[in-house]
Amino acid sequence: MTRKALLLLIAVAFAALAPVARCSEQVDVALDKNKKLRSGPGVFSYDNDDKGPTHWGALKPEFQECSDGTHQSPINVLVDSSDPPKDPKPSINLERSVVSFAASSNNFQFNCHSEFANCSSIVWNKTTYSMLQVHAHCPSEHHLGGKPLPLEVHFVHKSADNKLLVFGVFFEMGDEMNPHFETLLDSAGDMDTKVVDLSKFNEKDSTICTYDGSLTTPPCSEGVRWVLSTKPMKASMRQIGEFHEMLGERTNNRPIQPITDRKVKCWPNLGTENPLLKKIFK
Ligand SMILES: [Zn+2]
Repeated sequence: MTRKALLLLIAVAFAALAPVARCSEQVDVALDKNKKLRSGPGVFSYDNDDKGPTHWGALKPEFQECSDGTHQSPINVLVDSSDPPKDPKPSINLERSVVSFAASSNNFQFNCHSEFANCSSIVWNKTTYSMLQVHAHCPSEHHLGGKPLPLEVHFVHKSADNKLLVFGVFFEMGDEMNPHFETLLDSAGDMDTKVVDLSKFNEKDSTICTYDGSLTTPPCSEGVRWVLSTKPMKASMRQIGEFHEMLGERTNNRPIQPITDRKVKCWPNLGTENPLLKKIFK
């Protein structure tokens, strides 16, 4: 048995045993070498070094909120829809969008091009937020019920008055490859603009939670509205491994931050919950 096959076998056995497979446990998946994000050292890192998350606030004066902020992200989310927000559920309009790939040392990203067609949008609290870009973290940044998931995709949106809203979607390990995540993986490294159907990343029957947080990378600016879809989608081990490989086999998740005085509020999933709630929150 080759080393590669042995490692894959160990990974499969581990994934079967572990309730939540971590990104860093995915190993040795074949990938086109051109897609690896192996750029030079960045301003900050996710490693346990002097540029790592515990030092972000001291790296530059403008990063101070990373250490001094009190409404930081990510956090551990307890999904509880018994006290839903008074505002209506956000209208999530992920749609076919024209995007192009952009890489950094710690992530891959697809920027939306509104000059060609409308970008996806989210309406929350009577404000429309237009999508700027989509990127991913491995393993997830937010935890659900105390546990990380293998992958979290962030759709970053901005309002006309420059307020940020990030829509987060989680992925867990499944048996089959996810064709929609595959489209993003396939497009990584290709600088041409292309049309990607983002609507498939919005699970219609998911419980949606919201809270007030921050950017999860320096400068860790606060005042970011988070909207999280808590029903994980599925991607295959090969796909999550491929993304991990693109990151240079590193992780890119900021550790969870204290929740402080904040409340995470969740709108009930109207598809499966109590019919009385369904009536009230229609
Ligand atoms: Zn992010």
